[in-house]
Amino acid sequence: MSLHSPTTPRFPDNVRQALRDADLQAALRGARNGFVARRAAAVAAVPEFDAIRDAARAMKDHVLAHLDLYLEAYEARVTAAGGHVHWAESAEDARRIVLEICRAAGARTVLKGKSMISEECGINDHLAAHGITPVETDLGEYIIQLRGETPSHIIAPAVHVTVPQVREAFRAAHRDLPAERSLDGLDRLLAEARGVLRRRYFEAEVGITGANMLIAETGQSVIVTNEGNGDLTQSLARVHVVLASVEKIVPTLEDASTILRILARSATGQEMSVYTTFSSGPRRPGDPDGPEAYHVVLLDNGRSGMLGTEWQDMLRCIRCGACMNHCPVYQAVGGHAYGWVYPGPMGAVLTPALIGLEQGRHLPNASTFCGRCEEVCPMRIPLPGMMRSWRKAEFARHMTPRPMRWGLGAWAFLARHPWLHRRATAAARAGLRLMARGRGRIGWLPFGRGWTAARDFPAPEPGGGFLERWAKRS
Ligand code: SF4
Repeated sequence: MSLHSPTTPRFPDNVRQALRDADLQAALRGARNGFVARRAAAVAAVPEFDAIRDAARAMKDHVLAHLDLYLEAYEARVTAAGGHVHWAESAEDARRIVLEICRAAGARTVLKGKSMISEECGINDHLAAHGITPVETDLGEYIIQLRGETPSHIIAPAVHVTVPQVREAFRAAHRDLPAERSLDGLDRLLAEARGVLRRRYFEAEVGITGANMLIAETGQSVIVTNEGNGDLTQSLARVHVVLASVEKIVPTLEDASTILRILARSATGQEMSVYTTFSSGPRRPGDPDGPEAYHVVLLDNGRSGMLGTEWQDMLRCIRCGACMNHCPVYQAVGGHAYGWVYPGPMGAVLTPALIGLEQGRHLPNASTFCGRCEEVCPMRIPLPGMMRSWRKAEFARHMTPRPMRWGLGAWAFLARHPWLHRRATAAARAGLRLMARGRGRIGWLPFGRGWTAARDFPAPEPGGGFLERWAKRS
């Protein structure tokens, strides 16, 4: 999947393919319950968890109402510390700026920490097209880079890959290692990746990381990782580039700690990620290590256009991944089916905002509206409500398929004429009972083949429909 040509418009085909992919289904089955159980235990251990969520939501809403002020304050701090802030209105701007920095540094190899903004901008492809080799240092990102894939989850990019597939990728890529070596067991795979990547750390001139937060008060960028790869990426290379989107800003260190208390618990069920690293700029005289130059590329790419709209709340997202870990649709099809950078419920809201409803219109419909995503979102983002807003926008722009428009129109007409509704539903019930022929289920529906292809439709029970039963009870 190329990030510059999303396959999101082909979401239904992607889903069919994902459901048929036995390796993917095995990988998803293996990952399914781990995140959910760990999050539940981590949250239960913090009685004030909901109060922290409320504080985080209020803080982010305040930031979004004063985004320009906080971004300017942040820029001033970074500049005062000797760093450079670059404003990128679009992904294309970000690619150009990053390439210029890499060229100025004479870079031939660039280390990468995990960054979804880098994925959004297609940084790797762009650097590679200009003769610069990007090397992913996060283990999951490294695995999918070897396989020529994009991440399928925002915090576990290789969650769709099985262990035998990792083994196969390592054997194909690490040809300088003995062919007869054993790669049995996760420890051996881990040790091999670590050994290979350690060598690369000393070859690179530039290290690119994302940022979980940018702190306006101090001008710091913050990354949280479990592998320490981000720290090596940003401190060993001569030049450190932080690639972050504008909504990552928080006012103070105190606010950053509020987010840290809910981030790892929601993401992986840890109290804290193993490493939480604050970067303050280039190396100062007397510092034992650190980069000689420090650049921050601040990406907008459509986010400022979301301010003041019904999708503004999405800008509170801290990319914990909890919504996708709890989503029955994501759990069934994985992340690649969504066709662009951001999968799951958060992707279903964010993708149409960033690449347009024309391309992303299927995603807000890929929801059972069970509400689990909103329930677990640490930033209390009303994801189902925003998906519903996209569906309304889709309908208003006449993008909904005609049969569905007709169906909704017919339903709206009936809903406005209760007597007709009663007669129509009574006739439909009678028809369905006839089709069931006393078996209690229907195996084939002329207007519901998508449903009956995979499961039976229950026949209506005797005793009337919902309204009749409700009237009797009342
Ligand atoms: S929408 Fe909420 S749950 Fe989903 S990634 Fe963002 S913060 Fe996490």
